[in-house]
Amino acid sequence: MITLLSGGTGTPKLIQGIRQVLHDNEITVIVNTAEDMWVSGNHLSPDIDTVLYLFAGILNTETWWGIRGDSFETNRYLERIGIPESIAIGDRDRAIHIARGELLREGKNLTEATRAIASSLGVEATVLPMCDTPITTYVATENGPMHFQEYWVKHRGNVEISGVIRKFETPPVATEAVINAIRESDCVIIGPSNPVTSIGPILECSGVREALRETFTIAISPFLGSRPVSGPAAALMQAWGRSPDSKGTRDVYGDIINVFVQDTRDTIEVPGSLRLDTMMTGVKQSESLAWDILSIVRGRR
Ligand code: GDP
Repeated sequence: MITLLSGGTGTPKLIQGIRQVLHDNEITVIVNTAEDMWVSGNHLSPDIDTVLYLFAGILNTETWWGIRGDSFETNRYLERIGIPESIAIGDRDRAIHIARGELLREGKNLTEATRAIASSLGVEATVLPMCDTPITTYVATENGPMHFQEYWVKHRGNVEISGVIRKFETPPVATEAVINAIRESDCVIIGPSNPVTSIGPILECSGVREALRETFTIAISPFLGSRPVSGPAAALMQAWGRSPDSKGTRDVYGDIINVFVQDTRDTIEVPGSLRLDTMMTGVKQSESLAWDILSIVRGRR
């Protein structure tokens, strides 16, 4: 079994390739939940949704969120009756959020709710939220903390930020399922997800770093030179006090990883790193990277 740590774009692209090589039931994904929120009474877990839809074969892989071919009737009608939503939620996507909200209100935890939804979508992989208690990423702006989704989805990242804040009532603790998955895996792959908003929150759950230190772990950089392949990772890394490149990413991971992978085109030198083509512009490229990564794992056996 292999386990991946994932956000909602870079690592799911790699999972798309890994699925061409391994059976879904050999794959476990530990997913960031620090962007979760309640919208119109329903529970949105953006990264869990993306990973579930990918395994269910219904993900919109143009955007890496939402369900392919979804309609937006409810979202438009809500706007018409004076209840505009901050994000465009598709009708079928919303059905999943309604189901999750109901399960949580019934007293299930997020791990149980995710398992129930995965099963109803026919997902054979194991998809695990990193923890069962709420935690949310905010960015520090001159007008105070701003929810990361507001910063990125509403303002498109066009706001000066000076820090990254996690808000929670209970400090996040990795679930037993998360720790067991890491311990029982042949290898953990930290995909090329945003180190600040996607991987950082998973590593901050107590128990995760300790478990990773005892497991063979490979991490893939989401940066090419001083820019990420996509998204706001550079500004976030700077606000977090890290250099916005592969070196800063390597520093975040510290002693928990055994192999660090950088793209062959990356101009930043990180001593000891492995160079591979990590640009996943389509399923073939993702599959090719998956073979490269999995051959490292096989070579160890
Ligand atoms: P989010 O939850 O939507 O922010 O997505 P993730 O955190 O999972 O992934 C975002 C990161 O993926 C960005 O920092 C990108 O640089 C990185 N990324 C996206 N596509 C690729 C790719 O093809 N190769 C590499 N190396 N990184 C990628």
